[in-house]
This record gives sequence, structure tokens and C-alpha cells, in this order.
Amino acid sequence: MFDYRIATLGSHTALQILKGARDEGFQNICVCRKDRVKPYKNFGVADEIITIDSYKDFPKVENELIKKKAIIIPHASFIEYVGIKYIEKLKVGYFGNKEILKWESDRRMEERWLRNSNLRTPLIFKDPAEIDRPCIIKFYGAKGGKGYFIANSELDFRSKMAVHPVDKYVIQEYIVGVPMYIHYFYSSLTGELEIMSFDKRYESNVDSIGRISARDQSSFTNVDPSYVVVGNVPLVLRESLLTEVIEMGERVVRESKKITKSSLFGPFCLETVLTPDQEFYVFEISARIVAGTNPFINGSPYTHLKYNKPMSTGRRIALEIRRAIEQKRLNEVLG
Ligand code: ATP
Repeated sequence: MFDYRIATLGSHTALQILKGARDEGFQNICVCRKDRVKPYKNFGVADEIITIDSYKDFPKVENELIKKKAIIIPHASFIEYVGIKYIEKLKVGYFGNKEILKWESDRRMEERWLRNSNLRTPLIFKDPAEIDRPCIIKFYGAKGGKGYFIANSELDFRSKMAVHPVDKYVIQEYIVGVPMYIHYFYSSLTGELEIMSFDKRYESNVDSIGRISARDQSSFTNVDPSYVVVGNVPLVLRESLLTEVIEMGERVVRESKKITKSSLFGPFCLETVLTPDQEFYVFEISARIVAGTNPFINGSPYTHLKYNKPMSTGRRIALEIRRAIEQKRLNEVLG
């Protein structure tokens, strides 16, 4: 139906992106590592699969993608494997604002963006001597929160840090509450913000440690908590909190218009902890589609209200591109 094709890397949220593209009338392309092809073949969602030996070979297929008028939909695996430096120079069509990538990948810039959006964020302690409450110590680039630990004083921090020979870390106030990941979509074509869905993560091994009694936990002296995400669990939020959630998203978008030439647009996620006092603490932002939207390939309760037909986040992206093409505004949604 359209000249353009929607392309993504075969990983992360590719199933819903490919299916969503088809549902909106686009041919799709899945660029896939040779050994990861099976799901995209088995579920029959890909019109074309271009295989590469390793992710670092992605640049080798860029010209082919350009010829096919592909528009790349970025997700976390794409950004991690292909790398921000290369993405900034990509010539093939790219859905999203590339300028925002540096704001979400640098912890300090991200923190500034969130605070200036008037969001509640956990305190950050610059110096271990300042630690006066339980804190979570996060390492830069740690895969799945490996090695993260809790410390409640400088002494505690120093003794636990002794076994972690790293120098890039952040000391963040630990918020006691429940994790809540909020999935939004902002349309730069209409100026409208949508709530797509909510999830929480299923993390190994922290989601299992609580299944062992405190008495028995002491038998596992060498088990450190890790936060390796192995799946996502759908959530529906208490309805009275929705107003605040919408306003939080609006403030993030408003601030993005100050820090970049255009704005954040498309899907994004606020990663929060919600306390018993019903206060959201935002500890991270992802300015793209997140894997937490995967339970909603057939739509969420919220997208059902708005669209009355299956609307995944992947499909919502394709719909935005379709509308942009129809309105001759495609350049506005390509970074
Ligand atoms: P990603 O970059 O993939 O989102 P990560 O490896 O940087 O993940 P985080 O998501 O920052 O790790 O944190 C790992 C876990 O710790 C999550 O389950 C999150 O809910 C929890 N967590 C993070 N920060 C805090 C905090 N300040 N207080 C309480 N829990 C937190």
C-alpha cells in the first residue's frame, strides 16, 4: 500500500513492530542475526528477513535498507547493539528524535530532564559520606543490574564496594514501594499524549529471593541480588492515579521541547516506584518503545478505550508513520 517499508532489528519488541506495520498496510523488513531468525519465521510476522552474522554487521545492510525505502524503528536492543554514535549518523529513515538519545543515555542529563519536568526523583548522593538512608548503588553499563547493592551508611558502602572494582556508579536513595512502568505515546502530529499501558518486570533473582524465609536466606551467603529482566507482567493502575500519570507525561514532553530542537515523540516510558503514600518516584526514562509493552500485542485496556481495535505500541508507531505520509509530514517523524 505504501512505498515505504517498516524495518527493525529482530529482537526486543520486533514481533509487535512487524505485526503492527502489516496491520497498518506496510510491508516490513526484519534485520536479524542468523541464529535469532526462528521467532520471526515461526510467527509469520516478517515479509522479509535480512540476516547478518553479528549485530556489528548492521552497517553492511544500511544501503540495501535505503534502497528499499525502509524506516527503522529503534528499540533498546537496536540502540545497544548498533550504538548511539552510529545511529546519529544513520542515513536510512529513523523513527524518532535522535537528539534525545544523549539525554536518556547520560545519567546526569537524564536526571536534569526529569527534575526540570517537575517529577519526583530519588535523591542522588554525590559522596558516600552523605549516605544517611538505604541507597541502591547502580553501576554504569551493568547488564541487568548485576552487582547492584543496598547500603545504608558510608561504612556499609565501603565494605560492600570492596568487592566491586568499578569507578562509575551512582548512589541513589532506595524508594520502598512497588515498581510501575508507564508506557506513553506522544504524537507530534496532533500534540496529543496517550497512555498505552503499564507493566512491572519479572526479575531474576530478586523476584525469587522473597520466596525463601529469612532463616534460610542466611544459608545463601554468596547469592547477590540481581535484576535480570526475564519477562513483563501487565498491570492496570488505580484509576484515581491516572490524572497524575497524564500530567507527568505532559511535563516530560514539554521539557523535551526546551532541551531539543523539536520534541520527544513516539513511545516513551517512565520507570517509577510508587510508594504507599501514592507518590511516584521516577528513576529512569526510556525515550522509545520498551519491552514492557510486549504483553499488549493485542492492545491494552487503555488502547481499547481509545481505538476499539487491537492497538499495540508497535502498531501505534506504524499508524503515526501512515498518518505522517498521508499528511505529507513524514520528515517531521524521522530523526
Ligand atoms: P534498565 O536500564 O534496563 O531500565 P537497569 O539495569 O539500569 O535497567 P534499573 O531499572 O535502574 O536497572 O533498576 C533495577 C531494579 O531496581 C528495578 O527493579 C527497579 O525497580 C529497582 N530500582 C531502581 N532504582 C530504584 C530506587 N531508587 N528505589 C527502589 N528500587 C529501585
